[in-house]
Amino acid sequence: MSRNQQLFDRARLTTPGGVNSPVRAFRSVGGTPRFIARAEGPYFWDADGKRYIDYIGSWGPMIVGHAHPQVVRAVQEAAARGLSFGAPTEAEVEMAETLVRLVPSMEQVRLVSSGTEAAMSAIRLARGAAGGGKGRRKIVKFEGCYHGHADSLLVKAGSGLLTFGNPSSAGVPAEITQHTLVLDYNDCQQLEDAFRAHGDDIACVMVEAIAGNMNLVRATPEFLRTMRALCSQYGALLVFDEVMTGFRVALGGAQSLYGIVPDVTVLGKVIGGGMPVAAFGGSREVMKYLAPEGAVYQAGTLSGNPVAVACGMATLKLVQAPGFYEQLAAQTAKLAQGLQAAAPQGMAFAADSVGGMFGLYFAADVPASYAQVMAADKARFNAFFHAMLDAGVYLAPSAFEAGFVSIAHDNAVIEATLAAARGAFAAVA
Ligand SMILES: *Cc1c(COP(=O)(O)O)cnc(C)c1O
Repeated sequence: MSRNQQLFDRARLTTPGGVNSPVRAFRSVGGTPRFIARAEGPYFWDADGKRYIDYIGSWGPMIVGHAHPQVVRAVQEAAARGLSFGAPTEAEVEMAETLVRLVPSMEQVRLVSSGTEAAMSAIRLARGAAGGGKGRRKIVKFEGCYHGHADSLLVKAGSGLLTFGNPSSAGVPAEITQHTLVLDYNDCQQLEDAFRAHGDDIACVMVEAIAGNMNLVRATPEFLRTMRALCSQYGALLVFDEVMTGFRVALGGAQSLYGIVPDVTVLGKVIGGGMPVAAFGGSREVMKYLAPEGAVYQAGTLSGNPVAVACGMATLKLVQAPGFYEQLAAQTAKLAQGLQAAAPQGMAFAADSVGGMFGLYFAADVPASYAQVMAADKARFNAFFHAMLDAGVYLAPSAFEAGFVSIAHDNAVIEATLAAARGAFAAVA
């Protein structure tokens, strides 16, 4: 029996499903999850010693590649100075200054430890701050966008278009999701209808400006412009969840690519460089509602943890190197275009990329909505996934997740991936 299988069997005895986050269990694709022993640059090695080219990068954070020497050194040096103080540090000031300089829509930022925590806190802030601090109840999100696992965000669309959502998880009372309206991504008319019906009680619209949790789906510029205009008109806050896209699609995030200024930005993943750092921020006018200055409560024992912040800062230093995002985007585009070219004539297959993020779809066209993403050929994706895995290429173990490239994925690594893909396409044709 493989060491991966032994570990999975052992893990299932003491950990629900054998994993600490559901997608790691390979439920969607079947088979035995790989237990990772170590990683370096674009590669990781599993418990059986097999090497993979890694295209999940810890689901986004590992943008400079695994175990980058400068990042590892920064972590070691910070750890040697003490692991956590529960009191402020200079490094947190530097990180806040860096984030507001690189994401100019933010004047102030609060550090937290996960994207879930950041998104949840951003919603509380929006509810407290909207309507000039009088407070509002309702929030708008879009089907297929993921903002972490806070109760009010685990929602699927209700029965009617403008009815409020139903919980998408057991353990979430309907009373909690009754204030969350779930609309279709890229549908401007639904947004207008929603604001006409409920605009005076909408605290915020939360969106992934480039969706990366239903595979990769780009927002249309019109969709984001409409959203911005309606939020301003009705006094709701526009919240861009850039946990995935921040420092991934461009140095200034998706907002810099679209030229849209959100009221609140949520960050995570890359800003921690592989350790738990996330953040939410906005104008001083909005952030003043947050405790200890304001009445919206939010706190965290490990928020701004010195070791995690050192890891994030070392990563943010590396991504600011001249030409970093141009090179990352070029390598990622080379992968996406190469996959498209490798797909057999007549097979429904499309690929897309933005910055260091890509989507591959067993569908005739690049999707623009959740429904289109869900219509892809899942069985063929699963077969392709396993053929690639056997060939030493680790793609996201689900047809409905985006992929991630690091700066360490050089030409040779991309070429090796495309060679594996030609074999995998032939096997699933
Ligand atoms: C990953 C992700 C989150 C949740 O972040 P965690 O650190 O996993 O809690 C929230 N929003 C988006 C867009 C994400 O991609």
